[in-house]
Amino acid sequence: MILALLAALLAGNVLPGAAGDATAPVYWIVAITVAAVLMVSLLAHELAHALLARRFGVRVKSVTLWALGGVTTFDEEPVTPRANALVAAAGPVVSLVLGGLFVVAARCVDPTWLYGLAIVALNWLAAMNVLLGLFNLLPAAPLDGGRVLRALLWARTGDRDKATAMAAAVGQALGFGLIGWGFVTMMSGYFSGVWLALVGWFILGSASAERQQAQVFGKLRGVTVRDVMTPHPVIAPGWWTVDAFAAHLADDGVRHRVFPVVDFEGRPVGVVGLPELAGARSAARIQDAVRPLDRRTRADAAEPLTDVLRRTTLRPGGAVAVVEDGKLAGVLTLADISRAVDLSRLGVKPTAGSAGSAESGPSPP
Ligand SMILES: [Zn+2]
Repeated sequence: MILALLAALLAGNVLPGAAGDATAPVYWIVAITVAAVLMVSLLAHELAHALLARRFGVRVKSVTLWALGGVTTFDEEPVTPRANALVAAAGPVVSLVLGGLFVVAARCVDPTWLYGLAIVALNWLAAMNVLLGLFNLLPAAPLDGGRVLRALLWARTGDRDKATAMAAAVGQALGFGLIGWGFVTMMSGYFSGVWLALVGWFILGSASAERQQAQVFGKLRGVTVRDVMTPHPVIAPGWWTVDAFAAHLADDGVRHRVFPVVDFEGRPVGVVGLPELAGARSAARIQDAVRPLDRRTRADAAEPLTDVLRRTTLRPGGAVAVVEDGKLAGVLTLADISRAVDLSRLGVKPTAGSAGSAESGPSPP
């Protein structure tokens, strides 16, 4: 859709306005080609983020191209300010380099080639890439420049959450500014104001969410996983059948949805939720239905809670198994985290003593 919109804009407006002697099919062929090259440029910008992040050992979750540009999402963010700054700067640098290459190409091409369309197309691609690079370098989160600003503040103050909140505040200001500018432009009769306001609205939304998260993380400082986890969780013995465990849940009126699974020696081997149990054959062993523990489903009891929150996104029905000295100590669910966040907003630091022991049920042998 974006490709079609761009091609229509180019074939109907930009190209005929700059070189008026070609025929409609020529305009369209050039327009589609140029639109495709712009999309590839956008992809190159995002891939620069993605590839550099991979070099720092960060797993890339997705790269998305959409109407307002591109977004690359990571499993977790790079751990040092330096890595953060470099990953963020890589995109705009690639865009600016591409812009420069298109300028050079426009200088080299015969000005009369393709009714003069070749030079117009190359200049347009140069302008768009330079614009993309410069716009993204604005020092306001969630733009790349905002990430660089945040990394610099983080390196200076040593406080990641404060740096995030500050860069996000600048992002909110930029968002408001763009929305205002967009409205003024629209009032003056230019349709491009809609686009400005949309970009502003998107930036405002992301920046507000980041600021809020940074404030929550700031309040959760010093809180460990042990402070908020549900201790003595109902354990699913891995060697039991799904059927037997289901009967046990019914008999004892267990109200949990997720259960850590242990092997015969009591070592935690995974977590299993009711949906997985429901999807498994009733005669299957629980250990065959478990999600094995990895960085995102396992935490250490003494770990800072924010470290876990930064590397995992808990969904309703999901859980992190909390381990202490190789033994299962509890589970961390979305409810535990919501409770800790609510308490911290009330100005109360959750501690192990205040954990929801009323919610924990009996454990099978
Ligand atoms: Zn970028």
